Amino acid sequence: MPLSTRWWAGRNKKESGRAPLFHELREEIPRFRKQGELPARDSGSFSKYFCDLCNSPVTIQELRQCSICGRWGCPDCWTPEYYICNSCHGILKMHLLRSRDEPETGPGGSE
Ligand SMILES: [Zn+2]
Ligand SMILES: [Zn+2]
Repeated sequence: MPLSTRWWAGRNKKESGRAPLFHELREEIPRFRKQGELPARDSGSFSKYFCDLCNSPVTIQELRQCSICGRWGCPDCWTPEYYICNSCHGILKMHLLRSRDEPETGPGGSE
C-alpha cells in the first residue's frame, strides 16, 4: 500500500469530480475526531459546544463535523461548498493549486 500515492494521478486520466482528491486528503490529514464523536462541551453552558477551529462556544445545531478531519466547525470556520472545515479547505486549495502548477512533480518530503 503506497503511502505517497500521487493524488493528482487520476486528474489527467479523467476528471471524475472531487472524490479522488478527498480520498487523498483523508489519507494526508490526521483524524482529529472520529466520525460521530461529539465536540468539546462548554462547561459554563448547558447547550454550547466549542468550535474545534476557533474555540467559540456555539450550539450543537450550528456545528458541522468535517468529513475529512472530524473537527467540528462553527459557521465561520466552515466551507459548505465541500462540507469540510476551513482548515481542510485551505489544504484542499493548496492541492488544487499544486496540481495545476506541477503536474509532473512527485510529492517529495516537505518535512
Ligand atoms: Zn469556529
Ligand atoms: Zn477538516
